[in-house]
Amino acid sequence: MKLKGNTYKKRVKHQLIEWVKGNSIHNEKDNECCPDFSCCKPNLLQPEEIRKTFYTLSELGDKEMKEWEKDNSIETPNYDKAHSMLGGFLCSGLDEIDPNKSIHVVGSSFNKSKLN
Ligand SMILES: [Zn+2]
Repeated sequence: MKLKGNTYKKRVKHQLIEWVKGNSIHNEKDNECCPDFSCCKPNLLQPEEIRKTFYTLSELGDKEMKEWEKDNSIETPNYDKAHSMLGGFLCSGLDEIDPNKSIHVVGSSFNKSKLN
């Protein structure tokens, strides 16, 4: 399956919607992975509930960021949570590549470290 959309934004949106459904499609045109990298590493696919939560947070986060661009003193809790989740997905992805490395993502509630 190929991603639809003649703009980057549309392709990202289509990729996200398919990913929530469980169809992980690598964005060939922009060379971007799904949030959890499951398009390239299928075993990294997050459970449906987590995918749905991420989708909701990122939709709300997009709206917050539009407001934040006008007034950057406002809080953006959903955007921050979505990015925290991305940090967690990144940790899992890096862990897959080298499980002996310790990973710490600043600001992430999904911090993970290992003692060798
Ligand atoms: Zn990929």
